[in-house]
Formats: sequence, structure tokens, C-alpha cells
Amino acid sequence: MGGRTGILFIMSAPSGAGKTSLARELGDNFPDLRHSVSYTTRPPRQGEQEGRDYYFVSAARFREMVKRGELAEWAEVHGERYGTSRLRLGATLEQGLDVLLTIDVQGARQLKAVYPEAVTVFLLPPSLAELKERLRQRGDPPAEVRRRLETARREVAELAGYDYVIVNDTFKEAVEALRAIILAERCRRARALPRLDGLLKEVEGHGTDHR
Ligand code: 5GP
Repeated sequence: MGGRTGILFIMSAPSGAGKTSLARELGDNFPDLRHSVSYTTRPPRQGEQEGRDYYFVSAARFREMVKRGELAEWAEVHGERYGTSRLRLGATLEQGLDVLLTIDVQGARQLKAVYPEAVTVFLLPPSLAELKERLRQRGDPPAEVRRRLETARREVAELAGYDYVIVNDTFKEAVEALRAIILAERCRRARALPRLDGLLKEVEGHGTDHR
């Protein structure tokens, strides 16, 4: 793909802010945008599928992956571990494919250190009250809801380090905002240049023809 390296989009959001639905909806809009499937030690929720939502692994297997350096980043969230495959992420970007990662703030920080040109997006719920309601409706038990709200408070405090912020007030507008960010980043001159090679040569050629 003309030597272009893929763009790494990192989206962080408190649990329940709607990032899974958003990422899924986006897949229909951008079939060429790859979603990275993370490894996690947490058990699957109802309806979640191995290899689609996560790779569900044991704590021992996860430790082994960390030890072997197989993860580009990893973090402990709500007592469970989550991580991104280094090999798969690197290979996808090398192929010139854009990748969307939905990971927590600790992981985002680690990856931004490795990929400084990564584009970071923070997705916020309209309010903590709304977030609580969404977590409840999802069927999370009360203790879990409290824990996730507490994490959300801490995560929102990290907002300043992000390039873009989207408030997920209405789902449709949040999708539009994310689409706009992706399109705009793809149009950045420095990123578009490799694809413009042919055109720029043509323009130069014409210049000489008409002299
Ligand atoms: P959940 O259990 O609700 O699916 O996810 C809990 C948190 O873990 C969310 O903030 C989610 O973005 C984050 N998460 C999911 N996958 C990864 C990952 O690969 N790395 C990191 N650092 N966080 C992740």
C-alpha cells in the first residue's frame, strides 16, 4: 500500500460508556479499519464470543505472555488483566492497515510511548449518573457497578493527555464524531503524501512540458 504505515487509533472510555457498540458500528462504516482483539483473564459476559470480543485466557497463560514480551501493552483493570498482542498489532500497521484499539488509560499511555504518532480518543458518558444506569441495565451486580464507577472517576481525570474527546450523548452523533476524526487523520498531508506520489510527479511533469 504505497509504503504507508497504518494509523493507530486508541480509544479509551470508562466501562459502560458505549465503546463496544461504537467500535462495532464503525466497522460497518470502515471495513478497512481493523479492530484489535485483546487478551483478558476476565470471564466472558453473556453474549461475548471468543476471538470476536476477546481472547479469554487463564491468569497463568497471561503471565506467560507478559514474560515472553508478547504484549505491546497490558494493564490490570478491576482486578483482571487485559493486553494487546505485539505481533498482531505491528504486522497490521506494517501492512498499511489502520487499527482501532479500545483500551484503558494505562495501556494507552504505554502505547503512546511506543507509537508517539498514535491518535488518541477519549469517549465519555454524558454523566456519571447515566453511566451508572447503563452499567445497571447491562446487568452488572451492584458491587461491580460501584467499582466501575470509581475507576471511571479516576480515568476521566486522565482526559488531558488525549487528542480528541467525544461525549456519547446520542449514539448517532458519537459515531459521526469518531468517523470525522478517522477521516480527518487519514487526510493529514504527511500521511496522504505516499498516496499522492503519482499525482505530484504528473504535476511536476506538466510544469516542464509547458515551459
Ligand atoms: P471490560 O471488562 O468492560 O470489557 O473492559 C474493562 C476495561 O479494560 C475497559 O476500559 C477496556 O477498554 C479495557 N481493555 C480492554 N482490552 C484492553 C487491552 O488490551 N489493554 C488494556 N490496557 N485495556 C483493555
